[in-house]
Amino acid sequence: MEKQYGRLFVISGCSGVGKGTLLGMLLKQHPELELSISATTRQPRPGEKDGVNYFFTDRKEFFKGVENGEFLEWAEFNGNCYGTKKAWVEKMLSRGENLILEIETNGALQIKKKLPEAVLIFILPPSVEELEHRLRGRNTEDEAAIQGRLHEVRREIECSKQYDYCVVNDSLEKALKELENIIFR
Ligand code: ADP
Ligand code: 5GP
Repeated sequence: MEKQYGRLFVISGCSGVGKGTLLGMLLKQHPELELSISATTRQPRPGEKDGVNYFFTDRKEFFKGVENGEFLEWAEFNGNCYGTKKAWVEKMLSRGENLILEIETNGALQIKKKLPEAVLIFILPPSVEELEHRLRGRNTEDEAAIQGRLHEVRREIECSKQYDYCVVNDSLEKALKELENIIFR
């Protein structure tokens, strides 16, 4: 029997809302889900590895990829470029794998235009104050980067209205259950 095409889930949410934490839990429980590794011009944070967290690159290489049509979507976020490799997504979907992309809102909306069957999920914070608290608590960004990320918050929350689902990450367990209900419905 011919294998079915895989499903594509796009997850977005403001910086510090808990996407990484939630996806880590989701993938641990469901190792059959594939997480896309994006290319970025951002510098690696301590502990991040090339080819594991991101494919780290410079602007020259990144824009060569853009010109060659290598990205399914790409966007600039807080001064850095991020993009999803088209060839990888196509290969995995045609193999029947279910994929997760963890990307920001402009890229997610580009995906929805190209692949309307993609499921867009937005992770919301319980409040903007709690989001700032988590972002500072993570201790990975300097003040300028934190301010830049907070600046994007309201625009991104506005975009969430165009998503198929919104999940509030108040309790991690509850948010994980909701994500599972959407993905495995
Ligand atoms: P993102 O990937 O969205 O930028 P992270 O997963 O790095 O966010 O989470 C940011 C910080 O918030 C981390 O220190 C994480 O442990 C914490 N965090 C995530 N989810 C929750 C939650 N539901 N309640 C409290 N803290 C959380
Ligand atoms: P961070 O620098 O915190 O790793 O990521 C910053 C933002 O870029 C996050 O909102 C993350 O979801 C988004 N992002 C990561 N990879 C991609 C990608 O390939 N495309 C787009 N459009 N956004 C991405």
